[in-house]
Amino acid sequence: MMYEFRVSEMAEEFGVHRNTVRNWINSGTLRAKEGPGRKYLMKFEDYHSLCEKFGRKPQIRPSSYADPEKSQKYQDNLLYQEPLEIGVQEKTIYSDARWADTCLTCGTCGSACPIAGVDGLDPRKILRMAVLGMEDELRDTNWPWKCTMCGKCENACPAGVEIMALMRRLRGLREREQVPGPIHKGVVTCLERGNNLGIPKDDFIHLCEALGEELEEEGLAGFKTPIDMVGARVMVTVNSKEPFAEPDDMKYWWRIFHAAGESWTIPSENWEGVNWGLFSGDDESMKTVVGRIVDNMRRLKCEVLLLPE
Ligand code: SF4
Ligand code: SF4
Repeated sequence: MMYEFRVSEMAEEFGVHRNTVRNWINSGTLRAKEGPGRKYLMKFEDYHSLCEKFGRKPQIRPSSYADPEKSQKYQDNLLYQEPLEIGVQEKTIYSDARWADTCLTCGTCGSACPIAGVDGLDPRKILRMAVLGMEDELRDTNWPWKCTMCGKCENACPAGVEIMALMRRLRGLREREQVPGPIHKGVVTCLERGNNLGIPKDDFIHLCEALGEELEEEGLAGFKTPIDMVGARVMVTVNSKEPFAEPDDMKYWWRIFHAAGESWTIPSENWEGVNWGLFSGDDESMKTVVGRIVDNMRRLKCEVLLLPE
């Protein structure tokens, strides 16, 4: 049994732009053939699959009820609604309304991008490839990793396309072992040891205490580094590169807190304030690291969170 439909009808039914439906057809994602009168034909089963993918009830009625068994199946299906699957990540990117429906192909994003042309990077091209369902090709390019996430393209875009969200999604498509540079290793280290560089808890506490003693010697009378101080107003997280390579930078912060008479503390564990999951496109790890900070806020009963970046 076949269905006949117009692009505009399909677009309205699925809440997407007409161009999106055309892109589905052109890329073969929607298996439909062009018929007379600017209409298309598709199999009933394919229409059902599309409805299932969108978690919605079929709206288009069969054009023919010649097959009573299929007709009954259709009627039964009208009474059945697929439950919404919360938290399931969409595996394809072409249908996401944050970019697929809204891009005008104007190219303003490319004009604003400070690295447009580097290795052929062009945000408009990336958008068009995404809309055409070329996610495998995009996953394998280095463009999402060249992108600095500066947001200039998105600020300039007249249609409000969320280009940076697309870049993060593309980064997230890579096998984790294929993520370039050290950022994924940093994420794993943070999950296993509480900070991106794997600094042991005892070493961190010892360093913080020693820096506090130095500050006291430098004139901050009675200064003692407040580690795990329950009830402090501000909880301070730390960029692990500071204790690792630039510990004096921490003292500059602490001098300001002292001069301002601020009530503050540093957690002894899970103090990392730079979430590399943001950069690697790893939402699950990012959530875990954020959750640990929230746990620390609750444990120490702090009101304000200070992130170093
Ligand atoms: S500026 Fe926006 S609308 Fe124009 S091509 Fe870029 S993403 Fe599309
Ligand atoms: S966010 Fe990426 S694509 Fe957009 S302007 Fe910056 S570098 Fe270019």
